[in-house]
Amino acid sequence: MNILLLGKPGAGKGSVAKEFKEKMNIVHLSTGDIFRNEIHEKTELGLLADSYISKGLLVPDEVTNEIIRSVLKKDPTKNYLFDGYPRTVNQAKFLKSAMAELGMKLDGVFDLETSDELVIVRLSSRRVCKTCGMIYNTRNHNPKVEGVCDVCGGKIIQRADDKEEAIKERLKVYNAQTKPLIEYYANEGLLHSVDSTKDSPELFEDILNIING
Ligand code: AMP
Repeated sequence: MNILLLGKPGAGKGSVAKEFKEKMNIVHLSTGDIFRNEIHEKTELGLLADSYISKGLLVPDEVTNEIIRSVLKKDPTKNYLFDGYPRTVNQAKFLKSAMAELGMKLDGVFDLETSDELVIVRLSSRRVCKTCGMIYNTRNHNPKVEGVCDVCGGKIIQRADDKEEAIKERLKVYNAQTKPLIEYYANEGLLHSVDSTKDSPELFEDILNIING
């Protein structure tokens, strides 16, 4: 089973993906995580990605598409959960043909619906562990020791793209480039809309109920 999470930045894709990873046999494929890892490792790809990400812009399609193709090619038999990819109609078309070449297909696309106001609150209060990616927020989910990850002891930071100016840019980019995917996947007969103002365990159950019919 291959499923895809759509939604504004801060809609809760990463948190729902965590529920999936913990409760199902599925590979979480997050292009954002892949880029952050490359940035952390200071690779050539990381440097390139950072020059876009820190401004709230999208990394060019050619770069992102090839990363996805090479991951899927390694093992097309696994179940994948796409999170943050595709983000443009061009990427969605690429994904469709890359999956078809590998004998794969998407089984469902879930649009996590939420307001701009809520995502601004969520993103500006979000903090992440630099080492393991664990997500915290300053409103109601702080680590036990300030600045130190409960899970791995890593340093907790605010992502550069979670600063106010970058959030505004990311929402603009979402509206211009990613939102058209809702219509694209509705036309493909794959789209389901879910209420992403809910907490992630409840949202995960909603998605599971739709999957199980
Ligand atoms: P995310 O963690 O999914 O919010 O991604 C963080 C940032 O990585 C985005 O704001 C983009 O700059 C970049 N990024 C992630 N996925 C993609 C993608 N599919 N296409 C282009 N850029 C991406």
